Amino acid sequence: RKGTVIITGASSGLGLATAKALAETGKWHVIMACRDFLKAERAAKSVGMNKENYSVIHLDLASLDSVRQFTDNFRRSGRPLDALVCNAAVYLPTAKEPTFTADGFELSVGTNHLGHFLLARLLLDDLKKSDYPSRRLIIVGSITGGPGGPAGLAGGLNGLNTSSMINGGEFDGAKAYKDSKVCNMLTMQEFHRRFHEETGVTFASLYPGCIATTGLFRSHIPSSGSSSPFPEVVTDPSLGKSGVYWSWNKDSASFQNQLSEEASDPEKARKLWELSEKLVVWV
Ligand code: NDP
Repeated sequence: RKGTVIITGASSGLGLATAKALAETGKWHVIMACRDFLKAERAAKSVGMNKENYSVIHLDLASLDSVRQFTDNFRRSGRPLDALVCNAAVYLPTAKEPTFTADGFELSVGTNHLGHFLLARLLLDDLKKSDYPSRRLIIVGSITGGPGGPAGLAGGLNGLNTSSMINGGEFDGAKAYKDSKVCNMLTMQEFHRRFHEETGVTFASLYPGCIATTGLFRSHIPSSGSSSPFPEVVTDPSLGKSGVYWSWNKDSASFQNQLSEEASDPEKARKLWELSEKLVVWV
C-alpha cells in the first residue's frame, strides 16, 4: 500500500518541495498540514502535484485547539499514519516586540516548538498503530543546534510559560527562533529516549541546508547555500537510524552530525519535555 505522510508547513519552501518529491514517487499520499488552505491548494497545483497524491488539512500550529482539531480531522480521514514531518516554522528576526499564539506563548517558540510538540505527542499513537515497515517522526532542526552554534537556552527554561523569551530575558526575535530550534532538537532526542525502543518508530532531525529563497527569509537578508535531499530522511532505508541529526555537506552526502552540547543535554531535554507537557495541557 501507499504510505501516508503528514508534512506541516507544506504550502511553501522546503515543505512544499518535500511534499512534491514524495507525491511524485507514487508511493506516498501527502497530507499537507497548512494554516492557509487556499494557499496550500494553489502551491500544490503550481508545482504540478497530482490531486490523487495529496490532501490539504487545515492546521494552525499557533493554536493548540487547532492542533487537536487537525488530529481529529486526520483521524476521520481513516488513513494510517506512516510518517510525520514537523517542518513549519516562523522566523521573526526583525521584530521589536513579541507577538503571541492563541494560547499566549511567544509566537516562534509557541509555533515551532509547542505546536509541534503537541502534534507529535498526539500523532505518536497513530504512528504506533501503523504496520508500515519504517515509521518515522522527523523534526526539522537548524544549524543553531550544530557544533559551534550559538547557545540558545542558557539561563534556564523558566520563561517558557511566559510570553517572552525562554530564559526570561528581553525579547529578541532571532534568538527566539534559535531557541525554538534547540527545543525541536531536544524534543526529537527525548522522543527517541522515551519511545524508540517501545514503538520501533524512528525519531530524527535534520538540517536542511541554508536555502535563502524560501519564505523563512522573507524578513531577513538572504545568505547563499545549497539544498539537501530532505525527502530521503523520510524514505531512504539507509537513513532509518533513530535519535540522530542528519546534515549534508556540499556534495549532498548525508552524514550524521553532532549536536551542540546544549542541544544534546539529556537533563535539559527531560525538563523541556515535562514543562512542555504541562503547557500544552498533556498532563
Ligand atoms: P518557509 O517560510 O518557506 O516555510 C515555512 C512554512 O511554515 C510555511 O508553509 C508557513 O505557512 C508554515 N507556517 C508558519 N507558521 C505556521 C503556523 N502557525 N501553522 C502552520 N504552518 C505554519 O521556510 P523554509 O521552507 O525555509 O523552512 C522550513 C523549515 O526548515 C523550518 O523548520 C526552518 O526552521 C528550517 N530551516 C530552514 C533553513 C533555510 O535556510 N531555509 C535553514 C535551517 C532550517 P504559510 O505558507 O502559510 O506562510
